[in-house]
Amino acid sequence: MSVRVGKTDRAAAFPVAAKTALKNDQLRANVRRATDTIRGKRALRVEEMPDWQQLRDTASAIKAHTLRHLDEYLVEFEKNCELAGGKVHWARDADEANAIAIGLIRQYSEGNSHVEVIKVKTMTSDEVQMNVALEAAGITPIETDLADMIVQMGHDEPSHIVVPALHRNRFEVRDLFRETMHRPELTAEPEDLTGAARAYLRERFLKVKIGVSGANFAIAETGGVCVVESEGNGRMCLTMPDVLISLIGVEKVIPRFEDLEVFLQLLPRSATGERMNPYNSLWCGVHAGDGPKAFHVILLDNGRTKLLHDEMERETLECIRCGACLNACPVYRETGGHAYGSIYSGPIGAILSPQLQSLEHSRSLPYASTLCGACYEVCPVKINIPEILIHLRGRVVREDQATLGGKLAVENLAMQGAAAAFQSQRRYEAAQRLAQAGQMLFRKGDQLENLPGMAGGWTKYRDLKAIPKQSFRDWWKSRSKGASA
Ligand code: SF4
Repeated sequence: MSVRVGKTDRAAAFPVAAKTALKNDQLRANVRRATDTIRGKRALRVEEMPDWQQLRDTASAIKAHTLRHLDEYLVEFEKNCELAGGKVHWARDADEANAIAIGLIRQYSEGNSHVEVIKVKTMTSDEVQMNVALEAAGITPIETDLADMIVQMGHDEPSHIVVPALHRNRFEVRDLFRETMHRPELTAEPEDLTGAARAYLRERFLKVKIGVSGANFAIAETGGVCVVESEGNGRMCLTMPDVLISLIGVEKVIPRFEDLEVFLQLLPRSATGERMNPYNSLWCGVHAGDGPKAFHVILLDNGRTKLLHDEMERETLECIRCGACLNACPVYRETGGHAYGSIYSGPIGAILSPQLQSLEHSRSLPYASTLCGACYEVCPVKINIPEILIHLRGRVVREDQATLGGKLAVENLAMQGAAAAFQSQRRYEAAQRLAQAGQMLFRKGDQLENLPGMAGGWTKYRDLKAIPKQSFRDWWKSRSKGASA
């Protein structure tokens, strides 16, 4: 089984990518402006909900319960989906999911040499890099969510889990549309841009026969699927094609239809600051004369079930992808999403991607946080992201310490030395005297500056007080002596 999360395996480590992002003033301004707007709207909508905290508790309890019984609910979903006329396929990893999707598209395109599919709400398909696989198989994917379309047209990567093109302002979008749609007359007015996108997409909705979607929720009790969105493109993509293929991560299942009541209050307010999503699409199997004639669900694992064994790691799967933690995170707000090297960016990306991939390609991500707790405060399902980040940092350190290179690394040696010093008063006092003597070279007034090596990373950006000539212990001893004299 090979678990892939977008292009993480080829991406630069966070500290390297973040440095590049920090030099891009336009990107930072775009990200800050967009996240400020969404945060403001979210705060207003949350304030008007007197039972917000109870809703969060309920959502967390539903998710925790579902994940403890995920095997049962998935089988229930499969049974009810197929009873309603759908067909469920199981994919262990990215390759299997893509192979199933390509097989289905070929089956329904009856040997046509040039096949197009329309896609919507498919972050999971970005996770498995489905567009790359489809193109390699001679199939053209067309993204229909406006932001995803902008990303695809610009040969770009998504930078936010709800607003994938958040790093682009409307002038950049105008230039992109002018070039790709051959519409040199376009202005940067939102009406002009949405009008151009609408005309471009309508043409495709009318002629393309196969749709690929993701899902926000899969309901075990009914075998139905739910997609929420703001533009109506999703509704078109879900209802107009003859065949609908929905790629759904296994953690998206919820037990009962009435559970939606909780999530459909929390999700839009957290994601875009709306009281409810303008379009809530729910469908169940196939119905003669209404909607697609064939409906397939691909249930994707891709490393998810591995997280079920550990209580803390399992909590990560409760995420409903609202993006609120990204908008609140001071690190994300400075760097934007590309620096995370994964389609899951921000705090949720910092815990999800490393776990799906067993830390392999994203071991720097658990450090991409100030641990300020803002993500935990806004999370509608109360995922304790800071706690999971610390847990993952522990795993990174233990994995490093298990290798010879890790054992001999300066940081490890320094930490081992500190641990030894803190275990004995004699050693601690000796280390303190050594540090008092050694700091002379770097002392400026009562501050230390330009420390060498790793410690320099601290003094480059922050103040560090020099170790005082007299320690508290020495002062206490001299004070006690004075008192007894
Ligand atoms: S972790 Fe919480 S706040 Fe972040 S995207 Fe998921 S549900 Fe939203």
